[in-house]
Amino acid sequence: MKQNTQSHQPMLIDPYGRHIEYLRLSVTDKCNLRCFYCMPSGFKDFEDKESWLTFDEIEKVIKAFTELGVARVRLTGGEPLVRKNISELATRLTTLPGLDDLSLSTNAVLLAKQSIALHQAGISRINVSLDTLKPETFSKITGGLLQPVLDGLMTAKAAGFSPIKINMVAMKGINDDEFEEMVEFCLEHDFTLRFIETMPMGSTGDEAGKHYMNLQSVKQQLAKHYPLIPGVMPGGGPARYVQIRNTGLRIGFITPISQHFCETCNRVRLSVDGTLYLCLGQDDKVALRPLLRDGISHNELKTVIIHAIGQKPEKHEFNHKSHQVVRLMSMTGG
Ligand code: SAM
Ligand code: SF4
Repeated sequence: MKQNTQSHQPMLIDPYGRHIEYLRLSVTDKCNLRCFYCMPSGFKDFEDKESWLTFDEIEKVIKAFTELGVARVRLTGGEPLVRKNISELATRLTTLPGLDDLSLSTNAVLLAKQSIALHQAGISRINVSLDTLKPETFSKITGGLLQPVLDGLMTAKAAGFSPIKINMVAMKGINDDEFEEMVEFCLEHDFTLRFIETMPMGSTGDEAGKHYMNLQSVKQQLAKHYPLIPGVMPGGGPARYVQIRNTGLRIGFITPISQHFCETCNRVRLSVDGTLYLCLGQDDKVALRPLLRDGISHNELKTVIIHAIGQKPEKHEFNHKSHQVVRLMSMTGG
């Protein structure tokens, strides 16, 4: 994390008094895996390249956000590392005054090749999706191979990323026999572990819903084997943390379904086509790309962003029975 170079005035306050200081930036909606809960196999309905924000456009938008008090940005997707020259973009963003923290969410398939360049570009923290340590289960969930992901993780550890957080989507009948194994893996490598509840997104929602697990039961399962004590994680976002006594291992639980975290939501999302989404679970949005391509000035862009934050909904309405978000997670930037 960069040294805090300027004091951040909370300039983006939404109608519910929440200070927006974090942006998730989707640099592509494409992916080299097909996790069944995220992207349907055979899915090809990706954004045309002409619709992608260019690095210049991204830098312009992020500059405006940082001047409005957004100090933290996460590169995500789709799979961010499939977009070419992502470390070049990272370098451009980390040099923006006011951006204290640039992080990355990745499936780690391409991380072994890119770790050093990404770390040198100023990314210090990464989140890696890893739902299983069994090659067959990995292939069943993602359609891909586990080994490149493990290689990517070890290269990232050697490159000095810290913390490295493992995101494990907990799924009944898929990986619910592997929670302790993943705890041991994270203990061994000094990773942080976060469990995630499946969310009903787009056309993958029904399939994801079939395997839904309330994370309270995961916590109870772990508590039988480990002495869990309340834990904290600086910048921990929506995860609620516990720690295993006498170890440094923190375990987070991200529970959008069983326990809302909307009241403390501090984030918005920018998709690859330049749409600013104000809530992961609602359709409220503002299209920035047409404005950028019409030559909007820097100050006008800031005004548009301030107005957009005024439209942020109070909460999402995920509910496995009655409501589904029509977008896929990879479109909005998960
Ligand atoms: N490709 C990168 C990765 O997998 O980390 C970044 C993008 S991915 C959309 C971000 C996160 O969203 C991953 O941790 C993934 O597990 C999670 N995710 C995707 N679809 C989900 C769903 N339906 N329910 C819960 N989590 C989901
Ligand atoms: Fe790709 Fe990440 Fe979605 Fe899996 S969760 S399909 S790795 S974008």
